[in-house]
Amino acid sequence: MTHSLLQNLRTGLSRTLEGDLAGMPPHDRREQYRRQIRMLHGPLSSLLLALALLETLRVAAHAFFDWAQAAALGWEFAAAAGMLALAAVYRRVASLRRRVLLGSAFFAVLLLSLAGFGDDWRQMPALSLAGFLLIPVGVLPLLVRPRVALAVLAASTFVAGTLLLALESITVDERLLFGFYYAMSATAGLTLRRARANLAIRLDQRVETLWQRAVSDPLTGLLNRQGWISLAGTAMGDAVAAGQRPVVLFIDVDHFKRVNDAHGHLVGDEILRELGHLIDARVGPGELCARLGGEEFACLLPGATDDQAERFAMRLANDYRERAERFGSTLSIGIATHRDGDLLNDMLARADAALYQAKRDGRDRIVYAAGD
Ligand code: GH3
Ligand code: MG
Ligand code: MG
Repeated sequence: MTHSLLQNLRTGLSRTLEGDLAGMPPHDRREQYRRQIRMLHGPLSSLLLALALLETLRVAAHAFFDWAQAAALGWEFAAAAGMLALAAVYRRVASLRRRVLLGSAFFAVLLLSLAGFGDDWRQMPALSLAGFLLIPVGVLPLLVRPRVALAVLAASTFVAGTLLLALESITVDERLLFGFYYAMSATAGLTLRRARANLAIRLDQRVETLWQRAVSDPLTGLLNRQGWISLAGTAMGDAVAAGQRPVVLFIDVDHFKRVNDAHGHLVGDEILRELGHLIDARVGPGELCARLGGEEFACLLPGATDDQAERFAMRLANDYRERAERFGSTLSIGIATHRDGDLLNDMLARADAALYQAKRDGRDRIVYAAGD
């Protein structure tokens, strides 16, 4: 009972802190963290720099209007200079740990500067206390790990409470007001943190959808030409580096124009979709197939032997013949095996030449590129 209550509390807390991230497997979550940090880095360095400049201006104005005090402001100038330096270093560091460290040091110096370092802290005016409000709203959104965020929130709430009870120079009204503002600041910090987590996920999903759309063929769901060229190029390079001899198949529907003319474009589309499904069903792990355009398809089989590639082509041609028999439609297929120094385009060109030979030899056949 207590156990499940605690469990629910933990789940609830991590959902509040992390948003959609909470349900992700640890590996994906770590990836998300990294992306979020990268996304946040620019705005945060600008924010720190802006705060440091503001603080410098504040101290300069203070000195300008109160010459008698100027000499006593030395340490405030030092604090402003320290903040500028921390903000400048923050822009350059790449490691998350160092950024959190620098960010925390930055806010600590800012607070000390606002609170009046060197005075009796119990005599601090309420205005200086207000600087403390920056902690939850300024720091919580930066903290990626829920446990660290919780610990910082707890510590900052403890210090805020202690200050409120210990300060002698503020009235009851000021205490209430500060307590209220502090609660607002903590809520805003948690909300911003959650918004940041969800924004990163949504952006990611958006990019993924756009990428899918850009590389896939809407009729068959296979890759389109651009997608295939980009993915197959990389896969081919990897296979060659691993000592394999990739195979490229160039597939073309025979007399497709006649099918269109005799049965209409819609039937033609249906046949292309069907061929797309047949190809998709044959594709194994690591193999990449695409509709290059019209009634032309290509496959890269990175790890297949020549025999396996031929079997792939024969089975596909037979499956297609069964399905498209009533339209009298068949396939011609050109096959090219990798040769030293070949790029994807070279293999595609040789498979295309083999396909052309298949057409000349009477269609409905599989032909190897010359020399393969
Ligand atoms: P071959 O045996 O020499 O390949 O003859 P073919 O008729 O298949 O080749 P050709 O290149 O002459 O004609 C291809 C036809 O494919 C012409 C075009 O109307 C048709 N086509 C191209 N894209 C689509 C499509 O998305 N849907 C349909 N239904 N037809 C298409
Ligand atoms: Mg054709
Ligand atoms: Mg064609």
